[in-house]
Amino acid sequence: MAEMCGNCKNFFEPRVGGVCRAHPPVARADGTATWPAVSRSDWCGEYKVAPPPANPGIRRLATA
Ligand code: SF4
Repeated sequence: MAEMCGNCKNFFEPRVGGVCRAHPPVARADGTATWPAVSRSDWCGEYKVAPPPANPGIRRLATA
C-alpha cells in the first residue's frame, strides 16, 4: 500500500478534500481552528497505515 495521506489513519473527511488529524487543529486569524488540508496523494514522515475497513459481510458469515 502506498504511503500517502489517502491511506493514512490520520486522514479524515475524504469527501471534502481531506484533512490531517495527526496534530491538534491550528488556530486561524478569524478565531476558528481547523486541521491542515491535505490531498490524498500528499505524504509526510508521520504516516501511519490505516486499519483495514470493517467488512460486515465476512463477520456475518463467521457468526452464522
Ligand atoms: S500529512 Fe502525514 S500524518 Fe497527515 S494524513 Fe498525511 S501522511 Fe498522514
